[in-house]
Amino acid sequence: MAQEDGKHCAVCGKDQFSLAHDEWMRRAFPFVEKGQLKMCAGCGAKYLVCKSCGGLFTRVHPALESWEVNQKCPACGAEDPAVKAWDGTSSRHF
Ligand SMILES: [Zn+2]
Ligand SMILES: [Zn+2]
Repeated sequence: MAQEDGKHCAVCGKDQFSLAHDEWMRRAFPFVEKGQLKMCAGCGAKYLVCKSCGGLFTRVHPALESWEVNQKCPACGAEDPAVKAWDGTSSRHF
C-alpha cells in the first residue's frame, strides 16, 4: 500500500477524485455525516475530505476499524473532532 499523502489514492496511487455521496457510509460513520466524501477515479476508493485543505483525510470503507482511521490529515496535519470522537463502534447498529 502506498504511503498516504492526502493527495494520492492509497490504494492505486491516482490523484483524480470526484465528490461522492454514500448514504450507507453517512449513516454508519458520524464523521462522514458531518463531512464530505471523495471517490478515486481510478479504483473507486472513498476518502473523507479534510475540512482545512480539501485533501484526503483518511480512507473510508464499509469494514472500517478505528485503528485504520488517520487522526490527522496527512497533507496539512489538521485534526477532525468528529474523527477523533469516533471509537469504531458506530457501525455495529447496521
Ligand atoms: Zn484509487
Ligand atoms: Zn488537510
